[in-house]
Amino acid sequence: VQADNRFLVDSSADRVCCPLCGPRDAHFQWRENGYEGHLCSCGLMYISPQPSSDVIDLTFDGHLRSYYARPARMKLRWLSRSHPVGTLVEVGCGDGDFLEAAIEYGYTVGAIEAHPERATQVAKRLGIRVEAAFVEGCQWPKESCDIVYHCDLLSHFPDPHLALRQMCSLLRPGGILFFEVGIVAEISPRWYRLMTRLGMPEHRWFYSERSLRRVLSQCGLNILRLKRFGLAPSFLLSRLGRTIGYGGGATTPRQMTATAGQTVGLAEWRRAFERQRDVADGPLKACVHNFVRYRVGAAVPRVGPQTFLVIAAPKDERAAG
Ligand SMILES: [Zn+2]
Repeated sequence: VQADNRFLVDSSADRVCCPLCGPRDAHFQWRENGYEGHLCSCGLMYISPQPSSDVIDLTFDGHLRSYYARPARMKLRWLSRSHPVGTLVEVGCGDGDFLEAAIEYGYTVGAIEAHPERATQVAKRLGIRVEAAFVEGCQWPKESCDIVYHCDLLSHFPDPHLALRQMCSLLRPGGILFFEVGIVAEISPRWYRLMTRLGMPEHRWFYSERSLRRVLSQCGLNILRLKRFGLAPSFLLSRLGRTIGYGGGATTPRQMTATAGQTVGLAEWRRAFERQRDVADGPLKACVHNFVRYRVGAAVPRVGPQTFLVIAAPKDERAAG
């Protein structure tokens, strides 16, 4: 993986810079796990310091399985309205539940998955090609896909420009990127208290609509379609769930620390999370959370944190590589 972060460190002042616009004014917004979120005047919030590679396991997936499986058909219905056929490759396919639904919808699918065991399992289960690699260094044939899909990865890539350009290089002329991305920057930090955690340092970049459009534009991409979902009802539901002791999905590091009576490190929490990924969200809870996130979320006013479904295409496919 060429996680080239040269641009992110201003050596003269030894401080982190905005990856979209370099050294600019930035304001402190949020502190978590020893990292600070700074909001740049361009609308991107980045964490400082940037985590070193031994702190972050980029093959780790911090979401429950239902997070990907439940909304898969809704997303595919939305996609198929403008792009009903073609070769779809998912970056970070996890357990392959989205791809399984995509096959039902008639797409020819493949995947690039950084976790070697999950890559092998999905290839075997669905009988498809899965390359065990990070997208930044993958060997997937250039200009071979109509759709490259990913979910909640734009906040994680060490270098979002590099990852987006690599994904564009996989597209045939006329191909598109399709993805979900959280929109949590340029909102009042009071929302972060409701959300309780932003997932630092696994999440390095936090986008507003403005900074999302900017990073896409810098990679030669135009947004063709956009669907917005307000997340305030989701976070209220999770908070209510915790208050009445009904849980809010998987155990967080803080909850594990409280239970164990001693500090639980991120590495230890990750191992525990891997064991509960498939079982922590019961079918009813997963169904309610999915309904509130996407059905209720599509109907509420656009204030506070949101999540976007985006279809974007290279402005000029020759410039995208
Ligand atoms: Zn900036």
